Amino acid sequence: MIEVKQIHKRFGEHEVLKGVSLQVAAGEVVCLIGPSGSGKSTVLRCINGLETYEGGEILIEGERVDSKSSTIHQLRTHVGMVFQRFNLFPHRTVLENVMEGPVYVNKIAPATAKKEALALLDKVGLAQRADAYPNQLSGGQQQRVAIARALAMKPKAILFDEPTSALDPELVGEVLAVMRNLADDGMTMIVVTHEMGFARDVADRVCFLHSGTIVEEGAAKQVLSAPQHARTKDFLRRVL
Ligand code: ADP
Ligand code: MG
Repeated sequence: MIEVKQIHKRFGEHEVLKGVSLQVAAGEVVCLIGPSGSGKSTVLRCINGLETYEGGEILIEGERVDSKSSTIHQLRTHVGMVFQRFNLFPHRTVLENVMEGPVYVNKIAPATAKKEALALLDKVGLAQRADAYPNQLSGGQQQRVAIARALAMKPKAILFDEPTSALDPELVGEVLAVMRNLADDGMTMIVVTHEMGFARDVADRVCFLHSGTIVEEGAAKQVLSAPQHARTKDFLRRVL
């Protein structure tokens, strides 16, 4: 479903991605781990067409992701993104936040969009808070709304960029539980995370990124329990 082939990305003099390749099959969950500054967010932003890249190629179901192409907006609706900060519209209710994309971007009839949004809020355990405003919710609840909002666009895949890093520790579990359910439902996901328990239990594969290069990749249990590369060992020693 997602094919990243040898992408290179630089910011000025700084080569941030040095030939990153990554394949994700439909229904697969891949966790991307690595130290701060290794390029994890940049990989996701390139896949979602939020960032340009100089070399290589990214394909989503065979269609090239090119941030300058005329079809990029359409392509972007096929790949959802959930950020560390929830980025909800503060002056819109939870329900309106989830309906916004379907109604204004996908031109779905409001009544239909509302029905679907309520079903998604139910799925993330927030049907009761449909009329609340984001600032009336906890961080964990806001992040669950952000996931419902991404799902409302009926994406082929969802990219998560450290979705629990901004949360108080006691709120992390409820967000991971929603993500776990999505994985069980067969959603294709790339998850940047420092939650190694989640990676171990949910990911089909783990990729370890260091200085813009994937230095190790394999089954979650193998990479996390028996890493081969010295840099992976060193990183895991620090986070586990
Ligand atoms: P990670 O998500 O793994 O922490 P990033 O992908 O955010 O890493 O960043 C990788 C490198 O690219 C870092 O050195 C960062 O400083 C640099 N970088 C990221 N975005 C920009 C930007 N817009 N302009 C210049 N440098 C950037
Ligand atoms: Mg990042």
